[in-house]
Amino acid sequence: MRLVALTEPGDEARVALTPVVAAKLAGLGVEVAVEAGLGAAADYPDAAYAEAGAAVGGDRGELLAGADMVWRVRKPPPEEVRRMKRGTVHVSFFDPFREREMLAALAEAGVSAVSMEMMPRTTLAQKMDSLSSQASLAGYAAVIQAAACSRGIFPMMMTPAGTLSPARVFVIGVGVAGLQAIATAKRLGARVEAFDTRPVVEEQVRSLGAKFVKIDIGETGQTAEGYARELTPEQIERQREGMAKVCAQSNVVITTAKLFGRPAPVLVTAAMIARMKPGSIVVDLAAGAGGNVEGVEPGKTVVTDNGVRIIGAVALEATVARDSSAMYAANLYAFFEHFWDAGEGRFALRRDDEILSGCLLTHGGEVVHPEFREES
Ligand code: NAD
Repeated sequence: MRLVALTEPGDEARVALTPVVAAKLAGLGVEVAVEAGLGAAADYPDAAYAEAGAAVGGDRGELLAGADMVWRVRKPPPEEVRRMKRGTVHVSFFDPFREREMLAALAEAGVSAVSMEMMPRTTLAQKMDSLSSQASLAGYAAVIQAAACSRGIFPMMMTPAGTLSPARVFVIGVGVAGLQAIATAKRLGARVEAFDTRPVVEEQVRSLGAKFVKIDIGETGQTAEGYARELTPEQIERQREGMAKVCAQSNVVITTAKLFGRPAPVLVTAAMIARMKPGSIVVDLAAGAGGNVEGVEPGKTVVTDNGVRIIGAVALEATVARDSSAMYAANLYAFFEHFWDAGEGRFALRRDDEILSGCLLTHGGEVVHPEFREES
């Protein structure tokens, strides 16, 4: 069993394999090979992989062609799909809702593609849930970035020269990222408010010492997987009206509201931003999924006429690449271990396993995931 980890595109600092996990795999008897420089941007030197028992270096094309399993963070570039041998298991994020063509190519190449975004949200799969592990770090990084950009401080400070009020932080969308953003902003001493359409969140917000903003938008709820349901246009309008005043009073607004498999709702309009104070910061963690903020540009900071900075955050977890890689690699290892047949010394793709049926996109020459099969 040969497992290969490859370097990521230039704008991705995270890696799918750390030396700690490489050593665990080697301990199981897995032959591990990594491309030279794999972990350089995440502070994992080649020597650490070699020490962990991995073979370091070699031609990328040959590494791909010789792999039984490939681990990556990002989806494979189209030209590399064909370079894998039939039967290779490829584990990474795939962005499957927007990559129908790639799914067809993966199926045609006979690759078994395991999508980390489709990992079921069950208790058993919790340790494999990299959407959560990465979202949590993104929530943390959003607050750190806002604090670093801000020309004011977060905590209240009483000094002989006077008293500084705490920063006001408003978190919109309190899932995994939002909860961590609240906790981080509280630790920095900010006064934190938050809103989410899922009613169960109110208690969680309070338990972190933040205030839940009450907005009556009628019936909402969540899916069986714990995701938010889409609101009607009227509900969105009511939500915007309810949030406008809180945004205007906030120094920092962090938006994390997403709808699984669909574009994110626009919740903060240009009119709402026009009412905010100069120097206020808006971090849109949904920027890569369409954005919660009107005028956001993914990967860029936009400064509005009234001096509000809108940060279009894309994969902010990559700014803490050492730790986000460690968590991602641990998620992949948990998945690997679940299917590792120690007796036979092989990775057994058990098709009847409910974790696998949740996240396996292609197998045996076909798109097998029910969500994507018909349209492929
Ligand atoms: P997500 O990234 O899809 O969305 C982020 C948040 O945005 C969610 O809390 C959602 O309710 C909220 N949102 C959507 N539309 C909104 C709107 N119009 N206004 C305000 N907020 C809006 O979700 P996520 O963070 O990945 O997960 C959501 C929840 O799923 C978690 O809080 C948790 O309860 C549950 N979960 C369960 C498991 C598990 O059981 N293994 C694992 C992870 C998460």
